Amino acid sequence: MSSGTEATMSAIRLARGFTGRPKVIKFAGCYHGHVDALLAAAGSGVATFALPDTPGVTGAQAGDTIVLPYNDLEAVNEAFHRHPGEIACVITEASPGNMGVVPPTPGFNQGLKDACRKNGALFISDEVMTGFRTSRAGWFGIDGVVPDLMTFGKVMGGGFPAAAFGGRADIMAHLAPAGPVYQAGTLSGNPVATAAGLAQLRLLDDAAYDTIDAVSAQIQALVTEALTKEGVAHRIQQASNMFSVFFTDRSVRNYEDAKAQESYRFTAFFHSMLANGVYLPPSSSFESWFVSTAHDERAIQRIADALPAAARAAAEATE
Ligand SMILES: *Cc1c(COP(=O)(O)O)cnc(C)c1O
Repeated sequence: MSSGTEATMSAIRLARGFTGRPKVIKFAGCYHGHVDALLAAAGSGVATFALPDTPGVTGAQAGDTIVLPYNDLEAVNEAFHRHPGEIACVITEASPGNMGVVPPTPGFNQGLKDACRKNGALFISDEVMTGFRTSRAGWFGIDGVVPDLMTFGKVMGGGFPAAAFGGRADIMAHLAPAGPVYQAGTLSGNPVATAAGLAQLRLLDDAAYDTIDAVSAQIQALVTEALTKEGVAHRIQQASNMFSVFFTDRSVRNYEDAKAQESYRFTAFFHSMLANGVYLPPSSSFESWFVSTAHDERAIQRIADALPAAARAAAEATE
């Protein structure tokens, strides 16, 4: 298909068709595209604008969505207990980046998979952000938990609109035309997007990932150094080469924690960086910072030069 939204929407439809069940568990702060049913407590732009639901999504569309706190297996098991035989799937970002970077605690993804298996539901790992980015095999390449279905987008198109979902063969066999669950798209498999994606994935060799990892570590160190010098309470959380800066002194494990940070400091920090020619991800600190092979020494020096003033602005910011 052409977008991450289509990938998650199709994966959920397939999960519902395969299990014959209506309900979907998602986590607060996880964003899975603008699928109506999933625009409940979503992160990213939706988090910034503080819209737990957006106008235009009806109660019926979101009514089968169960929103739980991230990194809380107990809440997941309780939901399965409360809705026996009704939950089609659990969908989660493989490692969330849409509430800032909040990696799964050790064993969380495996726990989700186990809970799904025990209760006859499917485990969907959304790798639209992490796929081909956190490693060549995405977050799966790092934590190795095998989901029932996976979704991809973003990096895989090499800047063009390409996305995909896939998974267990017996589940995929339920998809049209082999099976009864409908899925379509006029522009799916678009040859230009596919060629662009393949060209990029072929260029992403080990050296490219080493470079991205090193650049990420370098920028994280520079940010910490600048903020520490000004006495600004902060935490940098990372998932492989993805990272984000939270203006809090506490570990951020879920969306509630992310919202409890001093976001007004990010606003001052962001605008100071921008005034000095560095454009950070703008959606408050609910976004991941992404680096690329284009971040060369000159770019890093420019970031280093802009940081002291931005750290001071963050220190002086008031609510
Ligand atoms: C961006 C994103 C999506 C949606 O992808 P689009 O191509 O914007 O529709 C879905 N899931 C995750 C985790 C994302 O980061």
